[in-house]
Amino acid sequence: MNEYMERQVQLKWYEPKKTYDVIIIGGGGHGLSTAYHLATRHNITNVAVLERKYIGGGNSGRNTTVIRANYGIPEAVRFYQRSVDLYKRLEEETGRWLMHLEKGILWIAHSEAAVRQERARAEVNRAFGAKTDFVTPEEIKKIVPQIDLSGGGVWPIMGASYHHDGATARHDRVNWALAEGANKRGVHIHQRTEVLDLIKEGDRVIGVQTNHGPMYADIVMSAVGGHVSRVAKMAGLRLPIRTHTLQAYVTNHYQQKLHPIVASTSLLFYVSQTARGEMLLGAQIDPQPSYNYRAGHDLIKGCSHRAMTMLPFLRDLRILRQWTGVCDMSPDYSPIMGKTPIPGFLITTGWGTWGFKAIPVGGEQMAALIATSETPELIAPFALDRFARDRTMADRGSAGTH
Ligand SMILES: Cc1cc2nc3c(=O)[nH]c(=O)nc-3n(C[C@H](O)[C@H](O)[C@H](O)COP(=O)(O)OP(=O)(O)OC[C@H]3O[C@@H](n4cnc5c(N)ncnc54)[C@H](O)[C@@H]3O)c2cc1C
Repeated sequence: MNEYMERQVQLKWYEPKKTYDVIIIGGGGHGLSTAYHLATRHNITNVAVLERKYIGGGNSGRNTTVIRANYGIPEAVRFYQRSVDLYKRLEEETGRWLMHLEKGILWIAHSEAAVRQERARAEVNRAFGAKTDFVTPEEIKKIVPQIDLSGGGVWPIMGASYHHDGATARHDRVNWALAEGANKRGVHIHQRTEVLDLIKEGDRVIGVQTNHGPMYADIVMSAVGGHVSRVAKMAGLRLPIRTHTLQAYVTNHYQQKLHPIVASTSLLFYVSQTARGEMLLGAQIDPQPSYNYRAGHDLIKGCSHRAMTMLPFLRDLRILRQWTGVCDMSPDYSPIMGKTPIPGFLITTGWGTWGFKAIPVGGEQMAALIATSETPELIAPFALDRFARDRTMADRGSAGTH
């Protein structure tokens, strides 16, 4: 807990009960958002969120906080645009300052093929409700005066898609505001409570075995980020998910302002400026599947080298901190949400490197599914059975670096 949480956020710590209507495994953004929406939209408050460490200690507190809806397929654009819209209202709704800031995102193209791709992205985005335009190098220079349009003489900038709604928000504040909103309506949040096994009656999941004993519920939902394969195995389920490490790092304070988020798919990096003026950089996942939280020098070296070709001012900054998260990567770069073949057991996973932006809508939709037992239309395309039906939702636009 940091100072903000201790002073501002009001959380009540309840004694665990034996039974709940709903148990959510994982106190990250998606678990907390589902609990929040169950309580605020459906008046379902007999809910427990079980977190093995502390809330927001997983990927939801380790990400680079980019919020956007400039995806490559209609289903994803519609889904993430709903989240962008919910984020805009979340401060007012929760009464907490989440440091939500609209900045815009430039998705830079360095080749004719990439220009065609960014033009297509802008078209698809506009058709399905996201505000994205194609911009020329001259327009890019006006938005980011620091940019070297020659790309260091190697990666010339030939255009970009500019997503006006691109934004950031302080990740831990988002987690805590949702936790507080759920908790003050009666939701139990149990930290240091690890789910060790699922309790089944026949095929049906009826509860969880934790380090503090068993708890029972009509519905058990897994929202455990990169640890999902382990929890799914407890249910007897094998998911098409691999866990990969993703790293990020920040520099010291940069005196000038870099207003938008800048991303390059060819150069495999993205950068934004934090509220403290630091430059925050991220790149692609480590190729080898792993649960390792160790950060490596190779990432910093390669990513910084590529980023400096476009933004030469980065050369003068120093790297202050580096960290990792473990990401639940799906084969089609889309989330997997909803029912599973195991009665009583739901999942929200496949959030990979792109799930922070989806926290409001992911929770909203999973809560609607739990409350009504019907899969909402917005998330129906992201059901687990799409892999068996050969209806994958391939969208490389999910990851900022693809
Ligand atoms: C470096 C990095 C940068 C990223 N940048 C972005 C970005 O800019 N924009 C974006 O949209 N997304 C980004 N992401 C992805 C995003 O952070 C995740 O997709 C999202 O936070 C996933 O939320 P979650 O609630 O599913 O998982 P998590 O936040 O990981 O929460 C899962 C929780 O489950 C708990 N848990 C696990 N096993 C158990 C168990 N057995 N019992 C009880 N609890 C358990 C964990 O301790 C954890 O707290 C980034 C990720 C990383 C790592």
